[in-house]
Amino acid sequence: MLLSLAIGDAYGAGFEYARGDFIARHNDLKRYYQHPKHLGIKPGMYTDDTQMSLAVAEALLKNPHPSALEWAEHFVSAFHRDRREGYAQRFYDFLLTVRDGSDFLARIKPHSDKSGAAMRTLPVGFLETPEAVLEVAAEQARLTHDTPDGIRSAQAAALSAHYLLRRLGPKAELEQYLEKRIGGPWCNWRGSVGSAGMDSVRAALTSFARHQSMRAMLHECIAWTGDVDTVAALALGLAACCADVEQDLPQVLLDTLENGAFGSDYVKQLDRRLRERFLGG
Ligand SMILES: [Mg+2]
Repeated sequence: MLLSLAIGDAYGAGFEYARGDFIARHNDLKRYYQHPKHLGIKPGMYTDDTQMSLAVAEALLKNPHPSALEWAEHFVSAFHRDRREGYAQRFYDFLLTVRDGSDFLARIKPHSDKSGAAMRTLPVGFLETPEAVLEVAAEQARLTHDTPDGIRSAQAAALSAHYLLRRLGPKAELEQYLEKRIGGPWCNWRGSVGSAGMDSVRAALTSFARHQSMRAMLHECIAWTGDVDTVAALALGLAACCADVEQDLPQVLLDTLENGAFGSDYVKQLDRRLRERFLGG
C-alpha cells in the first residue's frame, strides 16, 4: 500500500496544480517530472501525503487505537526527522514551530475540510473491523480536520482500503459498500480537483473504479488536473490492496523513488510490518 501511495504522490508532485498543457505534454509515466514551480521537491521525492501516511502507519503499529496525543506526536516527529515541502503553507509553518505532541494539540486550529486528513488515512484500513476503521479514521481526522467533510473523506478512504485488504467483495461493488455505511456517491467525479478532502477522495475512487491497471489509473489521476498528487497517492495506495488491479507500474518509477533514510526501503519495510501485524503476513 504505502510504496504505491508514495509512487503516486511523487509522480503527482510534478503536476500538482500545474497547467493543463504541461500535464498533457509530460504525463507519460516514463519518469518523475520536476514541477515547473515547486523546485524544492525534486523528481522522485514524495510529499506530505506519504510522510503523514508513514506517521499514521507507525502510530498504528505502536498502538492500534492511538490517543490524540499519540497521533500528534507521530505527526510532529515524522515531519521534524525529515522536513520537506509539499505541505499546505500554513500547516508547514505551524509544524516548523511545533515542539512536540502536546504543543501541537494546544495550538492547532482543527477546522479544515481540505484533504490533509484523507491523504494520510489509508493505513487505518488495516484495522480489524469496519467499525474500528470508521472510529479511528474519524479520531485521527479530528486532530486537524474536525469538519463533517474532513472526517467523512478520511473515513471513505480508510474504509475503501479496509474493503480491499480484507477481501470483502469485488472491486466493482466498493462504491455500494461505502454507500451503505457512509452514504455517497463516490465514483462520479468530473473535472479539476480542488483542495477539499471530498474532491481528492472522489476523484481517486472514480479513477480506481474505472480502470483495471495501475498505469491507467495513474495517468487519469494526473489528467484530472488540480491537487493530483493526493489523488494519485490515494488511488494507487488502494490499487495496491486490490487483487483485481494489474500491478503494472513502470519499473522506472519503482527504481527511482527516493531511497534515503525514509525512502523506498523504509516504506517497503513499513508495508511488510503492517501486513504482518494486521493481516498475519
Ligand atoms: Mg502532497
